Amino acid sequence: MGKLIKDDDEKGRLHIETPLMGESLVSKEFLKTTESKEYFRMHPDINVLKIGGQSIMDRGAKAILPIVDELIKLKDDYVMLLMTGGGTRARHVYNIGVDLGMPTGVLSKLGDKVSWQNAEMLSVLLAKHGGVKIGHGDHLEQLTMFCRQGYLPITFGIPPYGFFEHPAEFGSIPPHRTDCGAFLLAENIGAKSLIYLKDETGLFESDPKKAGKKAKDLKFYDKISVDELIELDLDDLIIERPILKMLKQTKCLKQLQIIDALNKPELIKDALDGKHVGTIIHK
Ligand code: ADP
Ligand code: MG
Repeated sequence: MGKLIKDDDEKGRLHIETPLMGESLVSKEFLKTTESKEYFRMHPDINVLKIGGQSIMDRGAKAILPIVDELIKLKDDYVMLLMTGGGTRARHVYNIGVDLGMPTGVLSKLGDKVSWQNAEMLSVLLAKHGGVKIGHGDHLEQLTMFCRQGYLPITFGIPPYGFFEHPAEFGSIPPHRTDCGAFLLAENIGAKSLIYLKDETGLFESDPKKAGKKAKDLKFYDKISVDELIELDLDDLIIERPILKMLKQTKCLKQLQIIDALNKPELIKDALDGKHVGTIIHK
């Protein structure tokens, strides 16, 4: 690992010889050699719970409080990180930006404050129960410590792309929003599970809210592999689309679960217990 080599002249300067030296870090064949047999997991006990913006937070007290009560009941038995979505306020600012012809990175910067507001709101509600809002800086290494001390850490789901957001495949809305942020963090901390708290049973063949009376006839997917889901090429999804491609490439995370926490907050415990409720999308 990084052999030291000494120059053969009077100065005898030291160099570190590394297998990465002289590599562009682009070659596919070379990059394959950097694959680890087993990836290091920083917080292997942590369950990442993403609380929907539009699907939960925007609905106010009647939606949020039963979930908060459930989380308070669960917090001493399960290690959890809460992450928040944006929702309608983010959509409103995106809409104004779209109207002005703003590029994706600008829209990303405009919308990123909303999931922070929702994290703030949740941390206020949970403050007396140990809820603590943390940023995306050094505190993320301390998640397990927070949980062991009886705190319930809460952070915003939006990933820090801003002006560096990738161009969108279709249109201009930033493709990596809070579902992606929760996904990326769960993967990189080596989390135990990733659970999306939304307002529908899980993944259907199309958006049940737009199906009207036909909603009950929609095909439901209780478990589906990411390859099958990509193959289906559904027009609309219950999670952000970039997650599909990313799930194919994850090193730690093997699956994610989507539950209807709005109508059935008790499903949070089931999902934490590893029960198959809602939809599981797996590698
Ligand atoms: P969140 O606020 O949690 O990010 P969103 O409102 O952005 O939630 O996305 C969840 C919504 O996606 C669901 O409430 C549902 O109306 C919609 N949706 C779109 N396509 C589907 C689908 N194929 N199956 C289920 N829900 C879908
Ligand atoms: Mg969403």
